[in-house]
Amino acid sequence: MKEKFSIWTIGCQMNIADSERISSALGSVGFEESDDLNNSDVSIVNSCVVRQSSEDKVKSKLDKLSKHKKNIQQDKIIVLMGCMVGPITDELKEQFPEVDLFLQPQNYEPLVDLLYVQKGIDKDGCLSNLDIKPRISSFVPVSHGCDKFCSFCIIPYRRGRETSREIPVIVDEVKRLADHGVKEITLLGQNVDSYGYDLSEDITLGDLFESLHDINEIKRIRFQTSHPIDMDIRIIESIANLPKVCESINLPFQSGSNKILETMRRGYSREEYIELINVIREKIPNVAMSADVIVGFCGENESDFEDTMDLMQTIKFDKLHTAIYSERKGTISQRKMKDDVPMLDKQRRYKYLNDEQEIIQADLNSKYVGKIDNIMIEGNKRGKVFGRNNQDKIIYVDNPHLIEGTLVDVEIDYAGPWAMKGNLVH
Ligand code: SF4
Repeated sequence: MKEKFSIWTIGCQMNIADSERISSALGSVGFEESDDLNNSDVSIVNSCVVRQSSEDKVKSKLDKLSKHKKNIQQDKIIVLMGCMVGPITDELKEQFPEVDLFLQPQNYEPLVDLLYVQKGIDKDGCLSNLDIKPRISSFVPVSHGCDKFCSFCIIPYRRGRETSREIPVIVDEVKRLADHGVKEITLLGQNVDSYGYDLSEDITLGDLFESLHDINEIKRIRFQTSHPIDMDIRIIESIANLPKVCESINLPFQSGSNKILETMRRGYSREEYIELINVIREKIPNVAMSADVIVGFCGENESDFEDTMDLMQTIKFDKLHTAIYSERKGTISQRKMKDDVPMLDKQRRYKYLNDEQEIIQADLNSKYVGKIDNIMIEGNKRGKVFGRNNQDKIIYVDNPHLIEGTLVDVEIDYAGPWAMKGNLVH
């Protein structure tokens, strides 16, 4: 009988990408994936530290797994990976002695070594397959860590300084993904726009786009997450000039108030942010803009919130990822500022922002009705095939025979705030 492994993942796309790679590697050397974390032979918990609640959930999983190992399945292998592994690992080792391995993000080799010793896997076969995941649209981490130290964020303390992977290494990996049927890649970095700065002054994300653009089988290149400070003209021009690079940019602004931007330590003003969007829209007229925003940050009064509302209404984002501020232990804001906005105010502002955003989204999407757009088929949801266009909009099509990875033209006949529907154009 095949040995079973299970991966529980929480957090961002970087973690999903890491889990996909490990899943693919273990599958390729004969392990069977299971969704029963407790009863698997190898149980992997892929952790996130962005919110305290995520860390609490991870600890609760480890607690359950440790009890299961002690009482029922002594030869089980428990692995903790992801952002919780780092400076506080010693503390975690003491708290969870049943955990066999602590893996930092993108550092899979100790797991391969352990399975080689304990389960006798073919180590070389496993290593060579670590990046293979035959999905049409795959994530590719290109850098990790962050040097920005925004006052509300724990990432720089846990993921460390920004480190970029070399271009030839990424190109090689993407070619192997393409050999396995991948047609679209999303390049991931905590701050993807600063890609390459640590390698050489001359290397930018634009150079990486160009190198990947030459891979025939790859039809679309996406990237996230951007930072207004590092999104420079060279990157903007390469998005404009390279047809495979999608015209969809996620550029978090976090607050529309200069006072709050300063205490958040974001390093730009609302005026600079708006100017940057103007440049982007001038160079890439069809661009879809999305952003992240936090409401209820320390010291945010009604006038600061109005500035945020004003900014989002001025820009009119295609999508907005909104979050209510909550304290995260170890961050600058938790140590030096007061979480002084009452929860009821935070919730009211959050709702108001989201309600207004929904109206903007519905209005922007309605302009697609009657137009023909090109989408890449990605899967099937509730009996309907769907894909995304260049601008990252989800479009459903009434045609069950379309194959994943195909690029098709559809005429859009319905648009709501979250998705659209269209018919195949023959
Ligand atoms: S840019 Fe700011 S919010 Fe983003 S990962 Fe870095 S510190 Fe965190």
